[in-house]
Amino acid sequence: MSVALLFNQKPTEEWQRNLQKLLPETKVEVYPIISNPEDVEFIATWKPHKDYIKEFPNLKVVQSVGAGIDHLLHTEIPDSVKVTRIVDSALKQEMFEHVLACIMTSMKNLLTYHKNQLQQEWIPKNYTSIHETTITILGLGEIGKLVAERFVALGFRVKGWSNSQKNMNGVATFVGKEGLNSAIANTDFIVNILPLTTETESILNYKFFNQCSKQTVLINVGRGAHLVEKDLLIAIDEKQIKEAYLDVFREEPLPENHPFWSNKNIYITPHIASVTNATTALQQVATNYKKLKNMETLENEVSLDKGY
Ligand code: NDP
Repeated sequence: MSVALLFNQKPTEEWQRNLQKLLPETKVEVYPIISNPEDVEFIATWKPHKDYIKEFPNLKVVQSVGAGIDHLLHTEIPDSVKVTRIVDSALKQEMFEHVLACIMTSMKNLLTYHKNQLQQEWIPKNYTSIHETTITILGLGEIGKLVAERFVALGFRVKGWSNSQKNMNGVATFVGKEGLNSAIANTDFIVNILPLTTETESILNYKFFNQCSKQTVLINVGRGAHLVEKDLLIAIDEKQIKEAYLDVFREEPLPENHPFWSNKNIYITPHIASVTNATTALQQVATNYKKLKNMETLENEVSLDKGY
């Protein structure tokens, strides 16, 4: 039994070296140099190529080395193969810190003041305090739940939206399609931390923006395909919503001529909201590999039926 690493861009040699240290008895190889594909029962991967599953006839586990699994689902995964992902407290905290930075930047108008500074303009603006500000978190999973709790602790009014009912102190919770409009109405910030599934793809569309208040700021840290990009441009142009902080895009890096680059009300970060910590991720990979060998229940297995 061996482990294969299939990465589209991570520093694979370092990952191989470090995983080998954690699994000294096991052969750890980097795709495409695999001595015997039939030996590979476990792969750890980020954005693998299209037919990766077919190349390993005895595959038992696909471990995503990120929080999401959408990057694995461009090919059919048989029922015999389990899919797992990373759940990491540092990843959750970093996401909170990123969203907090976006929200405080917007609340304090820092980017407007900087634009004004370059024109030597001195224009004080009104400030709405934390206690008067409402944040809606779409997705109350491992990351969204922590983010919601942190904002409650800071004194924000917090709403949350998920598939199943939640009971969270200080968070007004809403469920499913019927609960979406109430979740996004009368809110200052909408933070998308949903996984990308057939249900959630293109959820941030014109109809969605039409339900928002004019002061709403969108923060998308989920996936680029949650957003219908042309609908956002229209919504901003028509002042349906105020502005957007985007960390993820349908095509990354954002293409050269994309209209987001020059939009005055769109703020872009290059998919850095919360970055996988290699040390934690490798420990989770090694743990799951050992669990597979010992026929124990894997950590952080996802439901392929739900897509997350
Ligand atoms: P989880 O799987 O733990 O949580 C997903 C949440 O979304 C759950 O609360 C789930 O509801 C809810 N949800 C899923 N589908 C629907 C739906 N159709 N309607 C309503 N609610 C729904 O995911 P994580 O919190 O670990 O991660 C979320 C996503 O964040 C990742 O998939 C990834 O795309 C993104 N991410 C982005 C990063 C970045 O740097 N930009 C970094 C890390 C993650 P329920 O609880 O009821 O099942």
